[in-house]
Amino acid sequence: MEERGATQFLKKHVLDAELCTYCGACVNICPHFIAYHDRIIVRDTCDRTEGGCIDICPRLETDYSNLIRRLFDEKDITPEVGAVKAFYITRAADEAVQRNAQHGGTVTALIRLALEEGLIDTAVLSGETEPLRPAGVAVDRTGQPGRYSKSRFVVSPNVAAFNELAQTEAAAIGMVVTPCQAQALAKMRVSKNPRIQTNSKKERLVIGLFCGWAFSHDALSALLAEKLDDLSSIIGMDIPPSKYHVLDVFTADGTTISISLDEVQKCVRPACRSCSDMTAEFSDISVGSARLPEGWEEARSWNQVIVRTDVGAQLMDLARSRGLLEFREVPEQNLANLKKASLNKKKTATT
Ligand SMILES: Cc1cc2nc3c(=O)[nH]c(=O)nc-3n(C[C@H](O)[C@H](O)[C@H](O)COP(=O)(O)OP(=O)(O)OC[C@H]3O[C@@H](n4cnc5c(N)ncnc54)[C@H](O)[C@@H]3O)c2cc1C
Repeated sequence: MEERGATQFLKKHVLDAELCTYCGACVNICPHFIAYHDRIIVRDTCDRTEGGCIDICPRLETDYSNLIRRLFDEKDITPEVGAVKAFYITRAADEAVQRNAQHGGTVTALIRLALEEGLIDTAVLSGETEPLRPAGVAVDRTGQPGRYSKSRFVVSPNVAAFNELAQTEAAAIGMVVTPCQAQALAKMRVSKNPRIQTNSKKERLVIGLFCGWAFSHDALSALLAEKLDDLSSIIGMDIPPSKYHVLDVFTADGTTISISLDEVQKCVRPACRSCSDMTAEFSDISVGSARLPEGWEEARSWNQVIVRTDVGAQLMDLARSRGLLEFREVPEQNLANLKKASLNKKKTATT
């Protein structure tokens, strides 16, 4: 390593190179990094050449094909979307969950079930400290996961919250994460660093969100401030299927502002351009929006779900047997189309 220590190495090769996704993996594992306003700040330098931060940063060189073979059943692995044990279209059976959710509420329903069943004692979800400023929040069995439903399209550094939580009495942690964060958690699982190992053993469930890209806070806030008087009036956002080519912004008075993707492209976090994982391949269960023959108005209240591990399969089976998720028939081409979209992200990712 030509740089003096691990922090300097990470600064040069990830932060200064605009490759940082703000996943938060280096934060709370090492005192030198803090997550602040959409950026990782290096507080001071360290002399260690084998820092844990280097072990787990998802943006440093990683043999992800090898990692996937280590962590998933070889027979399930597909080149386009990672491991697939099962593929479903689902939504939460509870109408209140569904109403408050981004799409079908599958994520919220599964997290709620995992907490109720004691599969996990705490979940890391995403909340907002101020409008468009997300952060990881810990929700235990007495909490309400539904309060943190919906997608926040500015990056939420949820792995920083995991690292903090893992040092408390929480013993079985469930995570909702974007693909880069699932990669960091996977790298933690194989890290030989004792502190990271101890933390990682507390991870019981990873629910990954499909993700095309996320926004930088400052750029998105500036753009939305041109369209809206009050950013706190935003109650949600969505990116409908590509043929619509818009970002929809929903406000408390019932208005929807549709902004062309051409206009919002400048707000995309530069690091997302080099990400090749659309479906959060390092998760137990991955969830995204659905595609249905009836069109987007129907599809938007459903999810496409990839089950990747035994842990994921058990949770889905339990949700089905308890009647907590509705399942509908998967249209024939859905998985093939998803694979195509995922492969496209892999092809266009800049290196
Ligand atoms: C940045 C981003 C980009 C996405 N891009 C796509 C895409 O291209 N295609 C697609 O099909 N789906 C995409 N999704 C996923 C989609 O928006 C929904 O999250 C998914 O369909 C699950 O819907 P749901 O109704 O089950 O979620 P809900 O039941 O509403 O639960 C959503 C959960 O995600 C957590 N969460 C919200 N924002 C974040 C965040 N930034 N990081 C980590 N956790 C978060 C919430 O706390 C909540 O627990 C994206 C999501 C994000 C956050």
